[in-house]
Amino acid sequence: MQRLFQMQDRRQGQSPYPMVSMEEAWRTVQEVALALAERLQQAGPVLANWDDAALQSGTAVLADAITAPWPVPRFDMALKDGYAVRSQDLLSSRTLRCIGCQVAGQVTPKVDGLAAGTCRYITTGAPLPPGADAVVPVEQVQVLENETSGSAPKSSDEPFESFHILVASGYSVPAGSEVRHQGDDVAFGQVVLERGQQLGAVERSVLCSFGVQRSIPLQRVPRVAVLSTGSELCDPSASPSSLTAGSVYDSNRPLLLGLLRRYLPPSHIIDAGIASDEEVADNLAALLTNAQQDVLIISGGVSMGLSDVVKPLLAQHGRIHFGRLRMKPGKPMTFASNLCSTKRPWLAFALPGNPVSSSVCFALLVVPAIQLLKGVSIERAYPRCIIGRLAHVVVPDAERPEFQRAHLLAPTCLGSFCRSSATSESFSCFARMTEVSLTSALDSKQAESYLPLFSITGNQSSTRLQSVVHADVLVYVPPGTEPLPAGTLVHAVLLDAN
Ligand code: AMP
Ligand code: MG
Repeated sequence: MQRLFQMQDRRQGQSPYPMVSMEEAWRTVQEVALALAERLQQAGPVLANWDDAALQSGTAVLADAITAPWPVPRFDMALKDGYAVRSQDLLSSRTLRCIGCQVAGQVTPKVDGLAAGTCRYITTGAPLPPGADAVVPVEQVQVLENETSGSAPKSSDEPFESFHILVASGYSVPAGSEVRHQGDDVAFGQVVLERGQQLGAVERSVLCSFGVQRSIPLQRVPRVAVLSTGSELCDPSASPSSLTAGSVYDSNRPLLLGLLRRYLPPSHIIDAGIASDEEVADNLAALLTNAQQDVLIISGGVSMGLSDVVKPLLAQHGRIHFGRLRMKPGKPMTFASNLCSTKRPWLAFALPGNPVSSSVCFALLVVPAIQLLKGVSIERAYPRCIIGRLAHVVVPDAERPEFQRAHLLAPTCLGSFCRSSATSESFSCFARMTEVSLTSALDSKQAESYLPLFSITGNQSSTRLQSVVHADVLVYVPPGTEPLPAGTLVHAVLLDAN
């Protein structure tokens, strides 16, 4: 306790740190993170094989664009099960003689070109025979009953006997109908995955569609450590009977470690445990001396109390960029760095101890910083922003912008509000907004009525973790003195939408 008193500057209820706006905080975090990212990526890309854990984690980021080594599809193919035909034949007669069979995946001996008046039975994905320029789906065809021999094939192994088909009279078959042409989906040499793109399941499947024999150039990955601070904290595995009167289970560390797995492979996430308020100084010094991490996320110990020793400690080891934030929840949020460290340059985010504040600050400031360090492009590093209406009355904070947790209740379509709103300017510096141009059939008034509703998740106390459970968005509530009525247009940040 004595030690804690000694570490404190003389508190008069005044913080020595000015309260910075969110815009300033975002700009600062971006600037410092990009400076560290440049250093981290200086060593050049890492070449990964398909099986490498980094690539399989779904969090890796491409260091170079991937271009298509061949067109997709590689050959003209049928889009439907049906009959490959010469479209001009059907202008004069609706009856054709089916002379053979083309099945996807079966090696067909070199097929002769289709003669006038003939067609070939074809399955979806099979190469179009020479001479054919369209496919008539089986649904539009009648196999003629009065044939003396032949019928539509029941299995691809059956010896083929020719037969006649009749194409439905009203069905038009222009050239190219039901055909996927070579390169329709992807042209040869086209960029299929951009540099700076995170390789989630879909992007990895794009890699697979071209085979995975090549090594894949990946950005270097930052290492991130998570430390909980507070003498009251117990590991969640401790039995309730071992708790003392003032004990609290540590829920922030599991939360932050769990969220980090969306952005980093397990090998780059370090659980630095719990430090009591008395131990924080030594733990922090040890972490920074061992220099295992590029980013340190600390929760707790950043408020104005006797035990809140994290800010002065960070100031001893590096530079505090801001120590208070004009935002609710998250006012004591602190950001520090030491890019000149002789051991290993680092960034530190000291998040308020209350779990909701921790998770909101993590989503808005820590995630973009980690994404930038990973080499994700700036446009993709920030959370996505959408527009919607409040489902019920919301009372704003008089001084600080607030990020209220909410459920998303309807699909979205953007109106003119995103460009005209007073809040959009400050918002657009950190959240990506995808605008859609309205069709002439949908005017802007109608579009606004299709906006989603944001239903606030009950009591928004920064202690109430339940307010984050199942939340889809963080609704931006600008400061003000008047309640915002239900239906008010507001911006929101999509959670977990990177
Ligand atoms: P602090 O920011 O250290 O002043 O903590 C503010 C509040 O958050 C206190 O009630 C703490 O007990 C609580 N708290 C701090 N850290 C954690 C944590 N890791 N898990 C759960 N609650 C915490
Ligand atoms: Mg504390």
